Amino acid sequence: MSRFFDLPPLPEVPVAGSDNTYPVRRIFCVGRNYAAHAAEMGVEVDREAPFYFTKTPWAICHTGATIPYPLETENYHYEMEFVVAIGKPAFRVSEADALDHVFGYACGLDMTRRDLQLAAREKQRPWDLGKDVEHSAIIAPICQAGEFEIGEQRIALEVNGAVKQDSKLSDLIWSVPEIIAHLSRFYHLEPGDLIYTGTPAGVGAVVAGDEIVGTIDGLAPVTLKLGPAE
Ligand code: MN
Repeated sequence: MSRFFDLPPLPEVPVAGSDNTYPVRRIFCVGRNYAAHAAEMGVEVDREAPFYFTKTPWAICHTGATIPYPLETENYHYEMEFVVAIGKPAFRVSEADALDHVFGYACGLDMTRRDLQLAAREKQRPWDLGKDVEHSAIIAPICQAGEFEIGEQRIALEVNGAVKQDSKLSDLIWSVPEIIAHLSRFYHLEPGDLIYTGTPAGVGAVVAGDEIVGTIDGLAPVTLKLGPAE
């Protein structure tokens, strides 16, 4: 039997210092993982457990891209994030063993239709229209795990040269080992699974013509330009 049609290949992310790429299987995103960001969103941090939403792998967009201002929103927000790339199957792993399952780390942007996300939140509906936006999971080249140790690195974002987000990885409420251990109770994590670990305070809107630069000390920066709406 043959197919009625073929799908394009899964997105792949460049890996710093390698000719090989990292194919993307799933995208998990952690919500409210910096206390100051939860506060600016007007919500309490849930200290009992992290929570997640997902994006389809087709939402992957490479650093340096220019994307059209997205559909059906008037409040498109940047969210600078530390991204974890899973490198080995992880199922019910302990926090102590969690980092052994990491392939590497990258700078990413979780671009968000904030107006639609907040409207959904208000009505207790899912966030998909706000979060699973085409071209909304921006990612820079992955740095392999052996080349990067999670510490107090600065995580920051500028729009048109003005600093908007400025925090530290040590401000994460749920650490990377805690997130991997928790998520691996609900999913058989596999190579190709990316985890966007949440954004610091200072989120805000962008408009056509804006240029975003996101940085984490020790990782390749992530950049994005907003073009006119389609
Ligand atoms: Mn986010």
